[in-house]
Amino acid sequence: MSRKILGNCACGEITFEIRALNANIVNCHCTTCRRLNGSAFSTYFVVADKCFEITTGEKLLARYSPSETAVKNFCSQCGSPVFNQNSKYPHLRMIHLGSLDMNETINPNVNIFCQSKLPWVVLDREIPCFEREIEP
Ligand SMILES: [Zn+2]
Ligand SMILES: [Zn+2]
Repeated sequence: MSRKILGNCACGEITFEIRALNANIVNCHCTTCRRLNGSAFSTYFVVADKCFEITTGEKLLARYSPSETAVKNFCSQCGSPVFNQNSKYPHLRMIHLGSLDMNETINPNVNIFCQSKLPWVVLDREIPCFEREIEP
């Protein structure tokens, strides 16, 4: 299956495209993501870096590192999170699901850092749940 998915930040200045044959769609319940994004958990579309391209507005991207390995990339104009990087997984891009067109048609396929999920979040038991990171 070949497909192209388009996305943009809230103000529309930063646009990007993903050409991905397949992707992990990850709900991350870690405390860092919760703080960084202000939401109960964060959902990422995880693809190889070569499948991800910023098409406009790259100069507006701002970066913040919440840890030695992680980098959050966000729009300096509207504040929308765009994608994350982590030097532990140098060839991956974690793109925030909410910035993608057609995000309502994309379902998560794994939950991670379930040890720190909020108590009222009900996990989908049809998909794998890891206490911390995905284990091989
Ligand atoms: Zn923006
Ligand atoms: Zn996280």
